[in-house]
Parts: sequence; C-alpha cells; structure tokens
Amino acid sequence: RAKEDGRGVFRYFEAQMDFAQRERRILEQEMHQALEEEEFRLCYQPMISADSGYICCMEALIRWDHPIRGEISPGEFISIAEQSNLIVEIGKWTLLTACRAAADWPDNVCVSVNVAATHFMRSDIVADVATVLESTGLDGRRLEIEITEGLLIEDSEDVINRLAALKRLGCAIVMDDFGTGYSSLSYLLKFPFDRLKIDQSFIADIGRGASARAILMAIASLGENLGIKITAEGVETREQLSFLQDIACDQLQGYLFSQPVPHADVAPMMLRNFIDTSALVALPQDET
Ligand code: C2E
Ligand code: MG
Ligand code: MG
Ligand code: MG
Repeated sequence: RAKEDGRGVFRYFEAQMDFAQRERRILEQEMHQALEEEEFRLCYQPMISADSGYICCMEALIRWDHPIRGEISPGEFISIAEQSNLIVEIGKWTLLTACRAAADWPDNVCVSVNVAATHFMRSDIVADVATVLESTGLDGRRLEIEITEGLLIEDSEDVINRLAALKRLGCAIVMDDFGTGYSSLSYLLKFPFDRLKIDQSFIADIGRGASARAILMAIASLGENLGIKITAEGVETREQLSFLQDIACDQLQGYLFSQPVPHADVAPMMLRNFIDTSALVALPQDET
C-alpha cells in the first residue's frame, strides 16, 4: 500500500512539473508576441544622493502588461527569457527605451539598466550599447549598467574586457544585489566597479540586530577605502534611512522615497527633483 501511495505522490509531482514546464513554454511563446505587440514597458525608480536629497539616477525596471494575465513582474518572466535568445531582444529593447527616455531628462540625472548575464554573454553587448548611445544621442556617462555577480562567475578575460570597453564608452558599471553571491569580495579584485548596490535583504535586517548593521558599516568603509560608491536598495523605513546616513552610504533607493513609476510620471518628479531626507528623519518613526 505504502508503495502505491508513493507512486501516487510521484505521479502528482510529475504532473505538476509538466504543468510548470508547459506554463513556461506558453509564456515564452507569448513573449515573442509581446515584443511585437509592445506589451512591455519600463518603470523608473529614483536613486537619491544621501547627502543632498537630489535624484542622481533612475533605474529602469521592466513590466509586462499581458492582455489576459495582467501585469507580470520581471521576477516571473526574465528567467524564462534567459533560456532563449529572447533575453537579447528584450535587453536591447530595454537599453533603447531607457536611453531614449533619459535623453529628455536633465543632464545631471543618469539612467541605470539591468543587463542579464545571459544577454551580456550571448550578444555583443558593447556594440549593443554603442548603437543605442549613437541612435539616442545620450552621453555614455549618463548610462549605468547593473550586472549581478553571476556574470563574474564566468571568470573569463572576455567578461572583464567587455566591462572595460563599456567603461570606455563612459558607462558606469554597477554590481547589483551585492553580498548575495558566493564570493562577493573576491569580485571586487577582479574588476574596478564604479558602484555597489547592497542587496535589499541587508537593508531589511537593519532593525533586526547588530550583525546586519555591522556588515553594512564594513561595506561602507570598504567602499570609501576602495573609492567605490555605495547604494542601498530597498530602503523602506526612516530607521533604515537614518542608519544609512550615519554610515555615510552614498545613494539611497526604496519605497520610502518612491515606488517605481510609469514613464509619464518621471517628468513631474524631475521638476521637483528633490527629496528632503533631513525632514524625513526628523519626522516621527513609521509604524512599519
Ligand atoms: P533589482 O534590479 O535588484 O531591482 C530591485 C527590485 O526591488 C525591483 O523589483 C524594485 O521594484 C524592488 N524594490 C524597489 N524598492 C523597494 C523597496 O523599498 N522594498 C521592496 N521590497 N522592494 C523594492 P522588480 O521591478 O520586480 O524587479 C525585480 C528584478 O528583476 C530586478 O531586481 C532585476 O534583477 C530584474 N529586472 C527588472 N527589470 C529588468 C530588465 O529590464 N532587464 C533585466 N535583465 N532584469 C530586470
Ligand atoms: Mg537593479
Ligand atoms: Mg538589486
Ligand atoms: Mg534584486
């Protein structure tokens, strides 16, 4: 009997796996269509300078408005796109759309684009970026490329050379989700990053114990000594903000300042282009 039950459970999982695989295949097919039908759009989330409160950069974050399923987040479809050449098509579209938008913003505001490791490796990323800068007229110094540590696992000359070529185009190279990889610190020796974005899990832990705060302090002083700017992502509370200001973190990003907003809402935000962080700290603590 037990054996029979075991088989039943196995069949159940098999059916579930089948279902998940079919779902992925359907989404993949629909993504081809989505590119043609222009169902993708970019939202932008500001990064602010911790000491002035000015917006220094807007991060482009992709959204998929599926005609039936509604809005799908990148967490659900980027990994599927990465299994085929779709990631290159989507990546090129994102670069072009983000740079075109940024060309209309004030000169002192940059745009940052997340580039998947698979796009970076399968395409001539340097040519992709050069083409987009050329066609949009955006100064390369206003484009930041966010990569994750996964790319550096490749450990090839090739990756390092491409990153260096992107820097020669003027682009800043940002390590996203810093601290979540297997050897985050050793990657700092491999390549001269312009900025580290500390993963939001560390920020979420600020109020939960001294260890996270000690790690953040160490990263901040590491950045200062290596001449690498530090960005904190996922800042949600005033407590987190005041701690990050105390340790002299350079840039801040998170729901406390702004959610990612649609393209149409960027212009009004630019007109204000100032978030008074001192006023934020002075206010009573949030419930959150
Ligand atoms: P990421 O680059 O680390 O982006 C940060 C994610 O955290 C975004 O989720 C953002 O909306 C969210 N976030 C921002 N502030 C807060 C906060 O205060 N609290 C919390 N809990 N979350 C916050 P999103 O937009 O769903 O993107 C998820 C991931 O998908 C991104 O992580 C990035 O790795 C990837 N992604 C997004 N857009 C693109 C794209 O155009 N191309 C590629 N290749 N990947 C993308
Ligand atoms: Mg990012
Ligand atoms: Mg991140
Ligand atoms: Mg992330």
